[in-house]
Amino acid sequence: MQKVNGKSIFKGIAIGRILYYSKEQQQVKRLRVENTEAEVARYEAAREAAVKQLGELYDKALAEVGEMNAQVFEVHQMMLEDEDYNDSIYNIIRQQEVNAEYAVATTADNFSDMFANMDDEYFKARAIDIKDISERVVTILQGKSTGSDIGDEPVIIVAEDLAPSETVQMDKTKLLSFVTRLGSSNSHTAILARTMNIPALIGVEIDEAWDGKMAIVDGYTGTLYLEPDDELIEEMKKKLQEDIEKRELLQTLKGKENVTKSGRAIKLYANIGNVSDLASVLQNDASGIGLFRSEFLYLESKDYPTEDEQFLAYKQVAETLAGKKVIIRTLDIGADKQVDYFNMEHEDNPAMGYRAIRICLSQPEIFKTQLRAIFRASAYGNIAVMYPMIISVEEVKQIKQIVEEVKKELDDAGIKYGDVEQGIMIETPAAVMISDLLAEEVDFFSIGTNDLTQYTLAIDRQNAKLDTFYNSHHEAVLRMIKLVVDNAHVANIWAGICGELGADTSLTDTFLDMGVDELSVSPNMILPIRKVIREHE
Ligand code: PEP
Ligand code: MG
Repeated sequence: MQKVNGKSIFKGIAIGRILYYSKEQQQVKRLRVENTEAEVARYEAAREAAVKQLGELYDKALAEVGEMNAQVFEVHQMMLEDEDYNDSIYNIIRQQEVNAEYAVATTADNFSDMFANMDDEYFKARAIDIKDISERVVTILQGKSTGSDIGDEPVIIVAEDLAPSETVQMDKTKLLSFVTRLGSSNSHTAILARTMNIPALIGVEIDEAWDGKMAIVDGYTGTLYLEPDDELIEEMKKKLQEDIEKRELLQTLKGKENVTKSGRAIKLYANIGNVSDLASVLQNDASGIGLFRSEFLYLESKDYPTEDEQFLAYKQVAETLAGKKVIIRTLDIGADKQVDYFNMEHEDNPAMGYRAIRICLSQPEIFKTQLRAIFRASAYGNIAVMYPMIISVEEVKQIKQIVEEVKKELDDAGIKYGDVEQGIMIETPAAVMISDLLAEEVDFFSIGTNDLTQYTLAIDRQNAKLDTFYNSHHEAVLRMIKLVVDNAHVANIWAGICGELGADTSLTDTFLDMGVDELSVSPNMILPIRKVIREHE
């Protein structure tokens, strides 16, 4: 038995086999083959396996993110059946007498170059798809597991690092735990682990040789046990059972109000990143959604999600919540949330760069598409919208102007929409310091403590080395929260917290004393926080 330590980002126990997830660049060698027909057959088997995988991905995406988002996998299946694509591979194998991997990779390069050089935007975008399907086939030919396909058995994912775009593609029902060498406790992958209720460790000196080994992740002590003995497995199974019982005890709080002993009602909402998180919002009895990280719709797509695709997703959330508040945060791309098709230029300092509202105000056509989808969906439920990374009153005025244009377009087209409250995220020190002025312009504030802490303490939230310095209980951050709440109340608007700090039960009493009106937390934290609120004097 081997014991390795890391930093825990979610308390819990996971017992299972390790899947070493590697995203190293594909290495394809050109090898001469004697039997070209055997190589053709090998390619055909791999192509069939790829088509089958894509079918499974389509079903999964259909269930999790709806038909519009699932369609990309159907398109990929069709591309693998394309005659020109296949003929090119057969020709290269037969004429050059080379291995299938090389023939697929060469065809991918040729075809994607051809598409990338076309004028038509649609065909240009297909270059990425060609690369994608070809990489899938090469991975199968090399006998490796494909990136997003983590197999049929539940596994503990061990990886160097995980990008949000990778984790969103993984089958959530098969994820027991994440263990990474890089990553920080405030990265979006860490947030995902908390949302999914699974233990996760960062800062672990991982080893590829662990692949396939039995392991235990103890999120209480931050320990990973490799090849644990029977005694430890028994002990951990007991701990796991205790966790389940504790959670069951919290279930008795379901249906109860979020009211302090003195009778003050608190809005207790859930944070989600995806339509598939809705089940856990309902299970945990949230009173609404305080933060729908809409950028995950963009991260899951291979191209800009269309107005209709977004409309369907927002409508589904609004209808599922049946009249309860749903606060959709407009696209917060940039920094660690990179999307290929945005073609963002390299930035030396992306956390302070071209991100979130800055993209939306610079590329209003992208912003308007999203706003139209949000406003159209508002006819089907209680939708509010909020804007990330605000630093000035001018930005808010510009946004409101764009919103008016969108509403007019909808009016002219005879499309109905509801009464949409508009709020902003307070996640920059600038927004805190002018919160009195901003409060005059909006309906509510939602404090994003993850970024607010990063920008106040000048500590990159992604940098694992700085985790010990990243003190979200810092007096500066707490004073800022108090200032924002006070300024909101002077202007008669409400103020909440949707950053991870909002779920810190050791601070719930402090926040209630400050007058915080709303807490929006990962769904699994709703009931623990409800317990503290109800016990608050
Ligand atoms: C925050 O910054 O606190 C926040 C909620 O936004 P995100 O974590 O998505 O940046
Ligand atoms: Mg933020």
